[in-house]
Amino acid sequence: MAKRNKVNRGKVILVAGGAGFVGSHLCSALLDAGNRVICLDSYLTGSPANISGLERNPYFTAIEQDVCDEVELGEPLDQIYNLACPASPPSYQADPIHTMMTSVAGTGNLLRLAEKHGATFLQASTSEIYGDPEEHPQQEDYWGHVNCTGPRACYDEGKRAAETLCFDSLRSGSVDARVARIFNTYGPHMRPSDGRIVSNFIVQALKNDPLTVYGTGEQTRSFCYVSDLVEGLIRLMNCEPNPGVPVNLGNPGEFTVIELAELVLSKVRTASTIVHKPLPPDDPQRRRPDISRAKTLLAWEPKVVLEEGLSHTIAWFKKALPRQRATRNP
Ligand code: NAD
Ligand code: UDP
Repeated sequence: MAKRNKVNRGKVILVAGGAGFVGSHLCSALLDAGNRVICLDSYLTGSPANISGLERNPYFTAIEQDVCDEVELGEPLDQIYNLACPASPPSYQADPIHTMMTSVAGTGNLLRLAEKHGATFLQASTSEIYGDPEEHPQQEDYWGHVNCTGPRACYDEGKRAAETLCFDSLRSGSVDARVARIFNTYGPHMRPSDGRIVSNFIVQALKNDPLTVYGTGEQTRSFCYVSDLVEGLIRLMNCEPNPGVPVNLGNPGEFTVIELAELVLSKVRTASTIVHKPLPPDDPQRRRPDISRAKTLLAWEPKVVLEEGLSHTIAWFKKALPRQRATRNP
């Protein structure tokens, strides 16, 4: 599907992975701010439905393409956000070699495009580059603890290599590249079958299915609502001068998996219980961002607490799953 509108206004911004969960919110925010937005996506884990509301906007264009193939665009670009990469463990492990190539070859292709257009570049990196961290909370100068041969490596090592490409491009002067290290983010537009914890628990609760807690559930994550993340990404892209260092973006509120399950159960009228399933290999035990750098450089910190963000997300899933919702749920 490709629909081109040649009207210009604001900046011209390419969002690779723009039909995904985070990307669709980013496209929407960039359009609202008066920019022209080009979404490039293969629809591997994203969906045309996520951007269907945007396609009526004359300043929005959607292009279906895999970033592993060379990317050519006829019009000048001011900025490129690279969000193209499956983000949930089941999705990125389904075709691990393609995941790795998406981060390495795909980021390389988009950096070449940025160089050609003189566009500022932002890479969506991840807290996964810290692996199963031995330091807590995670600061950006921690080098991480990643198993480079395990089933998560295709994602973690791909993202680490993408960061290397960005900083080498910056050092060589070829691209004004920035790197955001994103911690677990949730909100509307997550796929019901995505496999990540927040969407799994909400969908399970809405369907009266047991909530699947992997391992003991004592492992922790810090959950950021998508609107806060999008604000942080835009601030980092537009921050002058380029910080020249990676920046953690996440919500420092830290919860165990069991605490999240109980919170979801308290917010959804449901007959669901909790069942324990095996912990996946290399599952990080603790994760919480130190966001001092984002506070100082971007004057950014999250505003939406977990309970409020979950309410918005549950409300969205209730509408997105109307036929699958059990009759007992409101
Ligand atoms: P998502 O899976 O919903 O979105 C990824 C998008 O990229 C999808 O639309 C998908 O179709 C597209 N894509 C994947 N491979 C592609 C390829 N080879 N070519 C073109 N398009 C491709 O995931 P998300 O949660 O929206 O994550 C967006 C980005 O943020 C990802 O790069 C992810 O690694 C990063 N990130 C997200 C989180 C989070 O918690 N959401 C945390 C850390 C990092
Ligand atoms: N998890 C869980 N049940 C699920 C999905 C995930 O207990 O149905 C756990 C998973 O083992 C991990 C945490 O929740 O400890 C976050 O998993 P997710 O896949 O959302 O993100 P990531 O592990 O990449 O941070």
